[in-house]
Amino acid sequence: MALITCPSCSKRVSDVTNTCPQCGFHRGEVSDEQLLEFQRRRLRDHVYHLKMSSYAVMTVFLAAFAWYWWESSDFQQQPSVGPLVLLAVGALAYLANRFLLFRAKRRMRSLLS
Ligand SMILES: [Zn+2]
Repeated sequence: MALITCPSCSKRVSDVTNTCPQCGFHRGEVSDEQLLEFQRRRLRDHVYHLKMSSYAVMTVFLAAFAWYWWESSDFQQQPSVGPLVLLAVGALAYLANRFLLFRAKRRMRSLLS
């Protein structure tokens, strides 16, 4: 038994099984077109998950902003460092998420053309 790379999800799978346990890809009786369709579907799921996590990140950012607003009593006082750290983390996570989304969409476009 050896480990090979699944052509669909690029995960390491056993060469004994004909079906990838990660993504359900069937090796063997697959055309290039089916492989492309599989990659497209996987990428679409990836984009969906990135969009969902971007909503989660936005929620964290808004919560941090509300915390900041609440601690500073309508921006009159200096708040503690907590909300500022959370704001920074939220902003960085949002930027990282947008970057990954941009990259995934560009890969999607190159698959479609
Ligand atoms: Zn796979």
